[in-house]
Amino acid sequence: MIQLSERLLAMEESATIAMSRKSRELKSEGKDVISLSLGEPDFNTPQFIKDAANEAMDNNFTKYMPVPGYDDLRESISNKFKRDNNLNYNKDQIVVSTGAKQSIANVVLTLINPGDEVIIPAPFWVSYIEIVKVAGGVPVLVNAGIDKDFKISGKDLAHAITPKTKLMIFSTPCNPTGSVYSRTELRDLADVIKKFPSLIVLCDEIYEHINFESKHESLAQFDDVYNQVVTVNGVSKAWAMTGWRLGYIGAPMAIASACTKVQGQFTSGTSSITQKAAIAAMDADPEVLNDMISAFKSRRGLVLGALAEIPGIKTNHPGGAFYVFPDCSAYFGKMNGKSMIKDASDLCLYLLEEALVALVTGDAFGDPNCFRISYAASEETLKEAMRRIKKALAKLD
Ligand code: PMP
Ligand code: GLU
Repeated sequence: MIQLSERLLAMEESATIAMSRKSRELKSEGKDVISLSLGEPDFNTPQFIKDAANEAMDNNFTKYMPVPGYDDLRESISNKFKRDNNLNYNKDQIVVSTGAKQSIANVVLTLINPGDEVIIPAPFWVSYIEIVKVAGGVPVLVNAGIDKDFKISGKDLAHAITPKTKLMIFSTPCNPTGSVYSRTELRDLADVIKKFPSLIVLCDEIYEHINFESKHESLAQFDDVYNQVVTVNGVSKAWAMTGWRLGYIGAPMAIASACTKVQGQFTSGTSSITQKAAIAAMDADPEVLNDMISAFKSRRGLVLGALAEIPGIKTNHPGGAFYVFPDCSAYFGKMNGKSMIKDASDLCLYLLEEALVALVTGDAFGDPNCFRISYAASEETLKEAMRRIKKALAKLD
């Protein structure tokens, strides 16, 4: 009999990936499912990036590459950090990985001993908690409800810190809430972080460019916490490159070297062709993303407008990413024929079966009152999905 490890048995499947798998299965059975479950841009990778990949192949960049990434890519990332974020990371402080997911896993494996506490503001992106658990860390959730725009304050952070705290992980713009931390809010966190010099903070900025109302702000911009921050970013979201698999960190030297060591044993460097293509993305003027960002902005307006017309649904005003995370708790206790909707998971299941719309339950993101809509889909698709959701919810009593 195969006995899987306790580590594996304690791990949850990624809810975002599970839901998109389920909707793919239903679609292959001929069901007209609309999937708003996966955080994946529906745009194609820009042509100039594909051209760079073709050129890399033609020039035989097809061999093993340095574990932390090609030097020229890391120089481009270093320039990007300076240009877009006013952050100084030299090439040796940058480690390129197979997706930001691996970047995060590297950092966690590098820092966490069994029993170490990792502060994760909730709602959080699903994989943070599972990666921490694999490393033997103890996730400490700090709840930031909808009334606080799903963001924590320095005071909330201070309350959660104990002598066992080693790391904090959060994203801005946030998956799943779309919330964006302002410079003042980050400064408030930094005032607490600097008082705990052994605390490291992983600031996940993968949605940096998908920010509708403000300038993106990085936590590492503050000199007094710079040495405590690891900045995570990647090409998946802004550059519509989810399948290419490339993420990166800018980090204090000791952490960057440690991540290179871990990666050297697990996967080595990410695809040579992807790396060469990513140089084109890093060197490009982010203004080329404007059309895509305005498309996301108008989709956000469409989804928020439609949700505002559904009784009992409450939303924040998401400033970035491509998610809305509505509170649907007004529907708990209502009946779907014979069975009762107890929580957001029941509601998502009901909406999948009744409306044929795939969403992800807030449970997976640490807030069981909410569900996540990914609006990385065409306006036509979103209109139809919102029409179906409204109709299905009106049937509950
Ligand atoms: N961080 C956040 C907040 C995300 O939503 C995602 C989405 N996959 C990732 C990291 C990982 O991105 P990737 O591995 O595709 O670079
Ligand atoms: N990060 C995306 C999401 O939240 C992609 C899926 C995943 O990697 O979990 O949906």
